[in-house]
Amino acid sequence: RSKSAGRNCFTVYDEAMSAELEARNTLEGDLRDAIARCQLEVHYQPFVDAASGVRRGFEALVRWRHPSRGLIPPDQFIPLAEETGLIVPLGEFVLRRACADAAGWPSDLTVAVNLSPIQFKEAELFEMICAALADSGLPPPRLEIEITESVLLERGVENLAFMERLKSIGIELALDDFGTGYSSLSYLVAFPFDKIKIDKSFIRNLTHQPRSSAIISSIVTLARGLDMSVTAEGVETAEEFERLRTLGVNFAQGYLFGRPQPVGEIELDAAESSRLDAA
Ligand code: C2E
Ligand code: MG
Ligand code: MG
Ligand code: MG
Repeated sequence: RSKSAGRNCFTVYDEAMSAELEARNTLEGDLRDAIARCQLEVHYQPFVDAASGVRRGFEALVRWRHPSRGLIPPDQFIPLAEETGLIVPLGEFVLRRACADAAGWPSDLTVAVNLSPIQFKEAELFEMICAALADSGLPPPRLEIEITESVLLERGVENLAFMERLKSIGIELALDDFGTGYSSLSYLVAFPFDKIKIDKSFIRNLTHQPRSSAIISSIVTLARGLDMSVTAEGVETAEEFERLRTLGVNFAQGYLFGRPQPVGEIELDAAESSRLDAA
């Protein structure tokens, strides 16, 4: 009796496993098609200079317009793309799209693109980035590359050399989601970042947890000493923005200034930056 119950259990478990595997395979197949059929979209979220409120550029954020499931956010497919290696063609698509779009913007606006740690293992990544810049005509100083600490954990020497190459042609480097990972301070000294992006979880606590201010102001002090600038991400309220300005943050990004939006919906006239300026 117990033997057959055991077998039933095993069958149920087995079926659940294969259903999950099947769903995953379907999603993987769909994602492969989506890349081939250009169903991925790049949306852009503005960031502003904290002191003046003037818009300085946009971060490129990928979205998947699924034929039956609608617009899927990156958290739901980037991990799968990373596990399957699809992040490589996906990442190239986003970078090329972002460079091409930004090349059409006023020359004082930059574009920031997120790179996955998996892409860092590609031997031809530097050449691909150079080709995307050359094909779009975007000057390298108008491109910023965002990476997270997880990139720095492995292959430190190779990654340092790669980052130095990017910097040598004028590309800016940002350390994304600062404070969420291992946050080894030695990374900041060892790697040539231009910018630190403080993770939105610290901004969220800012107004109801005064001690968060201490963290932000020490990051600002540290960054100044290392000649890096600081961006606060996830700024949603005017109170948060005011506090961050007082704390000396250089740039701010978040729903307060704009949600990620399709390129066609971005307002590029001078009136927009002066509106932010007055705010
Ligand atoms: P991230 O690079 O840290 O991007 C910031 C995320 O915070 C974005 O989520 C953005 O929409 C969201 N955000 C911005 N302002 C606010 C705010 O005021 N409040 C709140 N609650 N959220 C805000 P999104 O677009 O869902 O992207 C999530 C993550 O997916 C990104 O985090 C990035 O790590 C990854 N990702 C997005 N696009 C790409 C890509 O093209 N390549 C790679 N490798 N990763 C990407
Ligand atoms: Mg980012
Ligand atoms: Mg971030
Ligand atoms: Mg993030």
